[in-house]
Amino acid sequence: MCLICVELAKQKLTPAEGRRALGEMRVALDREHIAEVEAKLAEAERDDSSKP
Ligand SMILES: [Zn+2]
Repeated sequence: MCLICVELAKQKLTPAEGRRALGEMRVALDREHIAEVEAKLAEAERDDSSKP
């Protein structure tokens, strides 16, 4: 878990903000976790677009 996961879980971060944060934190995260965060973002984006 990194800051992005934590904030996403709390829904304090929108998927768009999460993607920007991931771009900034990419170098500090290992590749496996980047894939994990990307999966979470994709899920959050899907949830987001299903809202009215
Ligand atoms: Zn994380």
